[in-house]
Amino acid sequence: MERIISGKPREEDTVLEGSLRPRYFEEYIGQEKVKQNLRIAITAAQQRGEALDHILLYGPPGLGKTTLAHVIAAEIGANIRVTSGPAIERSGDLAALLTNLREGDILFIDEIHRLSRTIEEVLYPAMEDFALDLIIGKGPGARNLRLHLPHFTLIGATTRFAMLTPPLRDRFGAVYRLDYYDRQSIDEIVRRSARIIKVEVEPGGVAEIACRSRGTPRVANRLLKRVRDYAQVIAEGVITEEVAKEALASMEVDELGLDEVDHKVLRTIIEKFGGGPVGLDTIAASISEEADTIMDVYEPYLLQLGFLERTPRGRMAAPLAYNHLGLPYNQCKYYEKKGPPQASLW
Ligand code: ADP
Repeated sequence: MERIISGKPREEDTVLEGSLRPRYFEEYIGQEKVKQNLRIAITAAQQRGEALDHILLYGPPGLGKTTLAHVIAAEIGANIRVTSGPAIERSGDLAALLTNLREGDILFIDEIHRLSRTIEEVLYPAMEDFALDLIIGKGPGARNLRLHLPHFTLIGATTRFAMLTPPLRDRFGAVYRLDYYDRQSIDEIVRRSARIIKVEVEPGGVAEIACRSRGTPRVANRLLKRVRDYAQVIAEGVITEEVAKEALASMEVDELGLDEVDHKVLRTIIEKFGGGPVGLDTIAASISEEADTIMDVYEPYLLQLGFLERTPRGRMAAPLAYNHLGLPYNQCKYYEKKGPPQASLW
């Protein structure tokens, strides 16, 4: 089941997502380092009169990867074609997309880690040499035909950097990781969205929504819309701190943005598996959630909060998680199980 705090898109998002989506860097809040690097890359490419290098954006869902691809296109005044890994089923689908591109166009492939190997093979020469290799005919009479493609820019987005094959990864000139937004940026996103959807929010209301948004713009916008409905029906339309608190409490999202599933994940590790380490699949099976959803939506935020730790033998609940849930923990046992620090950490 898709939850309210999930960064993955839900149907309810589509109604306003278009109008809330920033169009230019100026409106794109936060991610300062990524924006700065992109601005430099764009200017440099424009000065040389070349197409922008291929770009890979990765990070949890809802952080603004698709938005950023559109922003890049708008900033360079290029056309953007949008598709996704699962939508490209046969190499013919990709060939059709590629041959329809024009010089300087942007091709955006969301969930690029889900491209099949065969499709990836078609993509390599297209990315590297702007060429499309076609095989005409079958059997001994088959011939190779190389078509030249216009210089385009591929922007790939993924929530799973590790699932990308190394040859594909290597073909991107630049790789940017989007991080969860800090509180200040999320506050600003809530204020901006409130202005756009024309709802009055008091500073206390902004804070209540922002702190439950898991540092994720999509969640912030979703919570804002829900609270607006509540304010409209119950409280004369203004989102005060009180109204936001009441509305959010009814959605069962705690003050850190954790919902029932996050609590279940942590409690399962602590109560059923003595705090861990325990494998992700085992956790998923015991709470009847998909391992993929836990990995994409729940785990990254719990790791970011310092509630969960990854060890070579599985996941462990960290002391902060015990504190948050009000459960006692045994420090000695915790460090004993966690083992010595990993060499890679030094
Ligand atoms: P992703 O592709 O990473 O899943 P999206 O680009 O679709 O995420 O972003 C989800 C929504 O969050 C967008 O519709 C937009 O309204 C909002 N959003 C994303 N990034 C920002 C940002 N930097 N500033 C303001 N709003 C943002």
